[in-house]
Amino acid sequence: MKDVLILTGGQEEHHYVARALRDLLEEESGTEVRVEVREVGQGGIESWLGWITAKMGRGKAKGETFGKWIRRAGIDVLGSSGWPQLRRLVALTLEEARPEVVVFFHPAVGLALQERVQDRSEAGFQRVGVVLEAEELPGWDGVTADLLWVADEGSAKELREKNPKAREVVAGGWPVRPSFDTGDDEKRGGGKKGEPFRVLYLINSRRRKAIRTVEKILQIKEVEVTAVVGKEEELRRDLQKAFSEPQGRLEIHGWVKNLAGMIRSHDLVVTKPGTISVREILATGRPAVLVQGGKDSDSRKGICRLITRLGAGALADSPGEIAARIRQALEGGGVGLREWGRRSRQEAVRSLGATDRLAHRIAQMAQASTEIERVPELRLIHHGHPGKKGLRMVDLHTHTIFSDGRLTLRELVDFYGRRGFDALAVTDHLVDRRRLLGRLANMSGLVLTAEDLPDYFRALGEERNRAWTKYRMILFPGLEFNHDGLTAKGSAHLLGVDLQKPIDPALSLKEICLEIREQGGLTIAAHPHHMSSAWGKDTLYLWERQEEFRPLIDAWEIGNRDDLFNPVGLKKLPLIAGSDFHKPKHLTSWKTLLWCEKEPEAIKECVRRNKDVSITLYRDHRFGGESEEREEKKGDGRLARQANQ
Ligand code: ZN
Ligand code: ZN
Repeated sequence: MKDVLILTGGQEEHHYVARALRDLLEEESGTEVRVEVREVGQGGIESWLGWITAKMGRGKAKGETFGKWIRRAGIDVLGSSGWPQLRRLVALTLEEARPEVVVFFHPAVGLALQERVQDRSEAGFQRVGVVLEAEELPGWDGVTADLLWVADEGSAKELREKNPKAREVVAGGWPVRPSFDTGDDEKRGGGKKGEPFRVLYLINSRRRKAIRTVEKILQIKEVEVTAVVGKEEELRRDLQKAFSEPQGRLEIHGWVKNLAGMIRSHDLVVTKPGTISVREILATGRPAVLVQGGKDSDSRKGICRLITRLGAGALADSPGEIAARIRQALEGGGVGLREWGRRSRQEAVRSLGATDRLAHRIAQMAQASTEIERVPELRLIHHGHPGKKGLRMVDLHTHTIFSDGRLTLRELVDFYGRRGFDALAVTDHLVDRRRLLGRLANMSGLVLTAEDLPDYFRALGEERNRAWTKYRMILFPGLEFNHDGLTAKGSAHLLGVDLQKPIDPALSLKEICLEIREQGGLTIAAHPHHMSSAWGKDTLYLWERQEEFRPLIDAWEIGNRDDLFNPVGLKKLPLIAGSDFHKPKHLTSWKTLLWCEKEPEAIKECVRRNKDVSITLYRDHRFGGESEEREEKKGDGRLARQANQ
């Protein structure tokens, strides 16, 4: 059984195409492929996605990737907290669905997926981006995908040039629902000799305008009109009243079940410009006259441009103009209308079977995917009964998607659990909202605030049980209190490990230390000295006030990821080392080994006494070979500076 996950944003087109794909995929592959459609555009995110879409193309500098652009526009984006919400939602959805293929329609969703794939070496899936709006094209520049599906060759060419991260770009046509995607069986779109021209009017405008439009079109004598009112029963009655004697030239319909067939039996469609309706009309090979409104959205304007670019119809903005356009097209026995029809049929042929082809490709990708290599159940250290003393490997400094980490809590537990760790502390960043400043302000939404704490503790409580039952691993709920000032000497990161309940981040560091101890937790000074790997700013506040804080701090990090802080050793401070884990490759880093019972109190007590404590540089068979190349590069200037000092 293979799983396909379709992630929709807030737009109507997303749901439309998702449904069409799901139906076809399930029909084609029966029980071999399971399709799940998930909306990741709920609530605040929907408006945020809309905002992004509106800004894309206009606000973007030339050649800038979406990722870069989003970061540059950071303050606004994060102000709505849409981005952190989206990445969390995408992460949790993936965790649940564990799909082989993910289909998505919005570049921002692509970006959230990208983050997952780059850093989650344990679970791979293929990505299919479907570009439904030409207006959104620039947003797709930086989005990585195994397949990008676009409507036309022009868009494909543009993306092939501008997006080197797309493995394949296919101009496969716009995926309309299957009933529209079966080709043309009736040669209309120009009127047969001697027969009247049949105009289909899909009414979605206001009533008065609709009646006047029908009136104006009926003034053209060689024309028959079919008006479709949908569910507007009142409009239907009004039309019937207004045209009691249409000499058989007006048909009025309510809700039409077979709209594709209805469109195919006409020569021309008059309607408002909507992406879905226009794509459906084009798929049947019929021309359209689109009725523009004053305040048309970008996507409406885009679809209007499409019709004029293809030459498959015309635009009009009043009942009079609609009739005038039709009249012009019928001149000389309908030369203009035939030309529109020819262009529209060309487009229909180009995109014939688009939905089918796309569904087929997705099914192929799903079926071709092989089982992902599972990490072997490593039991590095196996020191007998938990109640007896043994060598315990612990990591008491890690982050999850609750703050700026990349893994969900559950994934983190599995990640460490499978590798046989004995204890793990999750220490997501907590800040006092009132104190958000400088660099941290840009992380808004990527840190916990006091309001998030109840959820955080609840989740940790659940995972704590699972970690023990499944892996015999102790999970400590923790927090990293970020007190960031404008300078290194004004900044401190303090870890609280094994907390029972939330702590107010607005308290002073001393008060926080006391509160952590009150709850029976450990206080740990995180990266307390100059860091050489330059991934973060130095935090020297606690070091500068060593004498003052010494009695309040249980251990000082002598190792943090790749960094070693010699002064901690020289000063004979109680020591500990941890990954400061944010993503899988951070597993290669300093860890702590304790000689004690595998029990929460024993582990904490071992750290407090700081006897039988040693540190080790952990290298895993998977992640051992990876270096922090990129991060080192970033830090080059700084390393050079330090070497000169
Ligand atoms: Zn930190
Ligand atoms: Zn940290």
